[in-house]
Amino acid sequence: MRAGLRRLAVASGWPARRIRTRRLPGVLVLSYHAIKPAGPGAPSMVFAGLHVTAAQFEAHCRVLATLCHPISLTDWRAHRETGRPLPARPVLVTFDDGYRSVLTEALPVLERHAVPAAVFACTGPIAMEERFWYDAVAARDGEAAVEGLKAADHAAWQAAVDASRMPAHAGDPHAPLSVEEVQRLAAHPLIELGAHSVHHPILARASHDVQRAEIRESQAAVASWTGRPVTAFAYPNGREGVDFDVVTMRHLSEAGITDAFTTTPSLAAPDGDRLRIPRLVVVDGWTEDALVWRLLRLTVA
Ligand SMILES: [Zn+2]
Repeated sequence: MRAGLRRLAVASGWPARRIRTRRLPGVLVLSYHAIKPAGPGAPSMVFAGLHVTAAQFEAHCRVLATLCHPISLTDWRAHRETGRPLPARPVLVTFDDGYRSVLTEALPVLERHAVPAAVFACTGPIAMEERFWYDAVAARDGEAAVEGLKAADHAAWQAAVDASRMPAHAGDPHAPLSVEEVQRLAAHPLIELGAHSVHHPILARASHDVQRAEIRESQAAVASWTGRPVTAFAYPNGREGVDFDVVTMRHLSEAGITDAFTTTPSLAAPDGDRLRIPRLVVVDGWTEDALVWRLLRLTVA
């Protein structure tokens, strides 16, 4: 449906009324990245389409809190372990990478709408207070260079990433959380921290030893920073068979990871394969109307 017609339909209120009478035939897991600055004079971001503004995020959380039932990973585990039923329209909000704006911009919004979230931290740049490799490479060589490196073999990727390291300054919208900020975030009752590798490589292109180290070391770092066991992981880039494979899944299993999130774009079966949890990646174009319309299409009678 055209955006204008969709806006009129959503404004009329009938999609919202209809959604409330229906259920989601699975858990809707959303994958966010950073909250980007907005307004005149705001600094721009590379890969701007992967980030939403605080106003967009506020609109999404308002829709999710009023039309759906935001759940935490703990709620989902409780369902799996005790059979406690999930609500009719369960939604899990996740953030990948660990941008500082998750703490400074997203957390106040999550609090206002009582929406829980899982945050998957890429621990190397957090520990080093550097940009994530793709944000450093894109700033220097453009976004196309990042896509090229995702397709390169692991050694070529490693060499290019080592040559592009970039410190993250305090006002940089690409800045990752600091270790102290990870700790503050993890202490919040709405937030659970998971791991997302140390360096954000394409795991499927790395050797078994490197895959194992990327998983174990990021898991250990998050556990030591937060004082809690880490049993959730998000695959860097997230496409099965391209970005991760059965070897990755075996290493996760051996490390005690029980929930691993992909970017396979579908609803997640509540009792489905826990190492292949699908997610929809939220992009900049998701207006409030588009989200309501998506919910209308995803729900069933
Ligand atoms: Zn990521």
